[in-house]
Amino acid sequence: MPCKKCAETPVIQLTNSDIRLCKSCFIRYFEKKALRTIKKYNLIDRKEHVVAAVSGGKDSLSLLHFLNRLSIKKRDFKLSALLIDEGIKNYRDETIETAKKFCEKNNIQLHIASYKEGTGKTLDSIKKQFPDTVACSMCGVLRRYLLNKKSRELKADKLATGHNLDDEAQSIIMNQFRHNIALSARLGPTTGVKRDKRFVPRIKPFYFLTEKEVATYAFLNGLIDRFKECTYCAESNRFVVRNILNDLEQKYPGTKHSIVASFLEILPMLKEKYKGQDINSCRICGEPASSETCSACNLLQKIKK
Ligand code: SF4
Ligand code: ZN
Repeated sequence: MPCKKCAETPVIQLTNSDIRLCKSCFIRYFEKKALRTIKKYNLIDRKEHVVAAVSGGKDSLSLLHFLNRLSIKKRDFKLSALLIDEGIKNYRDETIETAKKFCEKNNIQLHIASYKEGTGKTLDSIKKQFPDTVACSMCGVLRRYLLNKKSRELKADKLATGHNLDDEAQSIIMNQFRHNIALSARLGPTTGVKRDKRFVPRIKPFYFLTEKEVATYAFLNGLIDRFKECTYCAESNRFVVRNILNDLEQKYPGTKHSIVASFLEILPMLKEKYKGQDINSCRICGEPASSETCSACNLLQKIKK
């Protein structure tokens, strides 16, 4: 069957439909959908400084490529990129080079921060110190902390991430499994429950695009030529949930869309319920915290013991 729009050879069949699109029609469809999300949820205002969180992988390079095209076309927001180097041998060192090359070629200012500089240790050495702790749980705490701190120092109005529909469906289900609904209240196309100047709001322009669509966009634009996963990925809870959802999606197409759509219906109620929670300042570093010390400082104290 040819492309639904122009009769060229198709490169992809859209999820949950029999529509097939060729390269140029797919790229147009993809960018339109991301732009619709930006407009509908008012993710970017005029003259804002948007910092894109990049890792050099398919999601973040697609995000940077898309936002760069948009900023050149619209000329009404400033774009820069922020990369957090966790210190993962044979993985992050390779993707950093890809991100650097992309930013150089496209004249995008790239800022790099690392766990080593922030904590004195790489993720590889932290994992060696705590072999029984899932690497992602420590990595997630440090990454969130550094992304917020560094993007605030860069005077970012928004921190854009490459999260897609699959990521969001996984987060919703993981929070259900752990009975952590307060964490779900922070999800959505723009994160957080209430505005606090210590938090840079995070935006997700790819919220309604699937992982398959983002990967296809990355390959078609020549952003990556191969796909490599983090060394620690397989030990994470997210990895298990991802496999469960992929199986369900195969048996019952549309499952991931339904999870996210149902969640969006109740999200305003969740945000309302949790908006009264106080945000403290960490007594050690002064960053926002839900208790006396922030999660990053709790982890750092353990690392230093
Ligand atoms: Fe960090 Fe886990 Fe992601 Fe690897 S898979 S970069 S350890 S959060
Ligand atoms: Zn702290």
